[in-house]
This record gives sequence, structure tokens and C-alpha cells, in this order.
Amino acid sequence: MQKAAQCMDLDPEILEILSHTQKSLIVSLPIRMDDGSLKVFEGYRVQHSELRGPFKGGFRYFPEVNLDEIKALATEMSLKCSVAGIPYGGAKGGIKCNPKAMSQGELERLTRKYVQAIYQIIGPEHDIPAPDMYTNPQIMAWFMDEYSKLSNRHQPGVVTGKPIEVGGSLGRNTATAQGGAYILEEYMKQNNLKPEAMTVVVQGFGNAGQYATELLHEMNCTIVGVSDSKGGIYNAKGMDPNAIIKIKKEKGSVIKSSEGEVVDAQKILEKPCDILVLAAMENQVNEANMKNVKAKLILELANGPVNGEADAYLEKKGVVIIPDILANSGGVTVSYFEWVQNQQAYYWTLEEVQMKLKRGINEAFQRTLKFQKDFDCSMREAAYVSAFDRLEKAMKLRGRQ
Ligand code: NAD
Repeated sequence: MQKAAQCMDLDPEILEILSHTQKSLIVSLPIRMDDGSLKVFEGYRVQHSELRGPFKGGFRYFPEVNLDEIKALATEMSLKCSVAGIPYGGAKGGIKCNPKAMSQGELERLTRKYVQAIYQIIGPEHDIPAPDMYTNPQIMAWFMDEYSKLSNRHQPGVVTGKPIEVGGSLGRNTATAQGGAYILEEYMKQNNLKPEAMTVVVQGFGNAGQYATELLHEMNCTIVGVSDSKGGIYNAKGMDPNAIIKIKKEKGSVIKSSEGEVVDAQKILEKPCDILVLAAMENQVNEANMKNVKAKLILELANGPVNGEADAYLEKKGVVIIPDILANSGGVTVSYFEWVQNQQAYYWTLEEVQMKLKRGINEAFQRTLKFQKDFDCSMREAAYVSAFDRLEKAMKLRGRQ
């Protein structure tokens, strides 16, 4: 952030304001577990900035969630919405828990308790949560239901990423991967690269990673590696994503598939490929493995998957990194479309959603490339410049005190 601010000569007062989060709420959530015991979970909601519109950002259920991480992610959300050109600020939330070890009933009670605890600071015109790691459409449906009950009116616009039946948008489940795929398609076109000549490794096989695998396969790229938390599989000749998806559904992990040889979860990042899609979690490419990464192009569908040291090293080596705040902004863009549809109570076709997403993400990409050229910097710095540029203008117009 500092480097981008310097290169565009950002007003230091504005950088100082943006370096702080506006509000952080920590809540304790006592839940009756299925075995009759009582367990108290800790939850967070952090609001970074509402300069360009209501706070917006997902919430995650994860054992290692902590306030500093949520603050950093909330800041990234303000920047991401700004890069994407959608009228939102940034926020993030989470609960320290292990959802894999909880029943559906426990997850529902935890979600409803979380809504009760943060009710006062959220709302369709104020702060609109969404899914993130290990939260899903069902959790969003409970969230919307609880908020609607508490406010005594139907409020689908309080949360996005809902199932279609309760106000979700067509195309939301594939949006993050689809946005990344549109950018890759455009990048390849501009650089005369043929998809059929590109090999791809995808780390993470959840919402972002699985759809990315499918979409890149449909674009005729060769999928040579995929992984999830249990490990990876690799096959230099290429693999069929549909066969892997089937096995993942039936047996719980990609490593049960016979499409490729089993590889350690971290080693998959070092396997030969042209494009590495990072779709799992933060800090995956770092000092320990950066020298072994072979890809020439990295698409950051996860938030912060390449750490600062690795970013500088790979940039110097000539690896192109399409940065998270741009690469995964398709998710929040279609979240915005969902919210617009909820507010209008009028729903769009899948074609309309995809057409608007493609237009929006390509505009964001071209704007980033223009800043990259103007300031002769990395694509990550250019994306930050693009975000700061809009935030600075908004702050100058609104005033800063
Ligand atoms: P998800 O919970 O659906 O999937 C996460 C996947 O990562 C799972 O397959 C899990 O097994 C895998 N994983 C965890 N640790 C791993 C490891 N060490 N190695 C390999 N795989 C590992 O989550 P998601 O929604 O797909 O989100 C993934 C990332 O993308 C997160 O950083 C999230 O913040 C980011 N993101 C998601 C969206 C979205 O719309 N889903 C939008 C923007 C950003």
C-alpha cells in the first residue's frame, strides 16, 4: 500500500485515515452444543471505510480467525470495491470456530447468535455481509432470516450470497472464479497466448477453486494440478475436472481421485505449470517456497495468498501476479448485483449477470493496466493506485473530518 501511495503521490492525510479501520466489534457467542454443553465462541465484525458506500465484506468461520487478520481483510475490501468500481466501502467478519466439527444445528444457532450480536451495526443500507471461508449460502439464509425477524420486516438485502430461492442472484456461486477467468482470457488475448497451450495448477478446491478449475478447463487450458486441505494431485498430461469434482463430493478430497499422482498440499505449488491459481487462503507462497514456484503467471483468487517477500521476489523474477483485489473482485461485484436486485425486488437472468460482470471486470482490469503503464509499476501497485484514486476523490468531495 505504501509503495502505491508513494508512486501516485497520495495525500498523506488520506493514507493515514485509510490505514485505520473505522470500527471493530468483538462479540462473545454462547451456544448450546448438541451434547448439552455450553460453549462460548468469539466473533468479530470490522468496518474499515464507508467513503464510497455501505460497508461490504464476507465473514468466515475458521479456528485461527483473529482481529488483526479481519482488520487487514476489511481494509482490502474497501480497496477491492474501489478497484471494481462498485459503490461500497469495506468490512469483514468472522467467528473463531471449527465448522467441520460442528453439526448443522450448532452452525445455525451460532449464525443466529452472531446476527443478534452485531445487529446494531449492520443493515442493507449500512453493512452487508457475505460468504467467505467455510461459510456458505445456507448460512447466509439463516443470517437473512434472523435479521428479518429482529427487524420485523423482510430484509433480503442485509446479506449476499444467499440461495436463489431466498433472494440470491443467478451467477453468484461462480462469480469469483468467473471474474478471474474473464481477466485471464483478456490477459491471454492481449499477450497472444493460446489457452490450449497453457497448463494450470489450482490450489484450493472450494467455491473459488473448483469453479476456476471448471471454467479454465472449458477455456481449453490443461488442468495439471489441483489441491485441497488434505493434499494435491498432479498429472502433466492433464486431468478431467468433472471426474475430480465427483470424487471430491463422494469421498471428501481431491486426493481420492485417480486422475493424477498424489502430492503434498504445499508441494503442488512448486509443480511445473504456466498458470498458478491460488484459491485457498493467505500466505501460501512465501519465503519458504517462492524460489521453487515455476509458474509464469499467478492469479490470486484467495485473499493475500502471496506474502510481501514472495511478491517482491517473484516480481523481480518477471512472474506476473494478477493481484487479489482485482483478480477475485468478481465475487463482490455479483454480490453487489444481488443487493441491487434485492433492493429493486426484480431479478435478472444469468446472461444479464454475466454480461454485466464481464463488462465491469474488464473495465477494472483495463483501468489497472493503464495505471501500471502510467506509473511503470507492478500490477499489484497499479491496482492499489486505482483504488486509492477513487477513494481520494471521494474523500476530497465529502471532507475528511
Ligand atoms: P471455501 O471454504 O469454499 O474453500 C476453501 C478451499 O481451500 C477448500 O477446498 C479447502 O480444502 C482448501 N484449503 C484449505 N487449506 C488448504 C491448503 N493448505 N492447501 C490447499 N487447499 C487448502 O472458500 P472459498 O470461498 O473458495 O475461498 C477461498 C479463498 O478465496 C479465500 O481466501 C477467500 O477469502 C477468497 N475469496 C473467496 C470469494 C468467494 O466468493 N468465495 C470471494 C473473494 C475471495
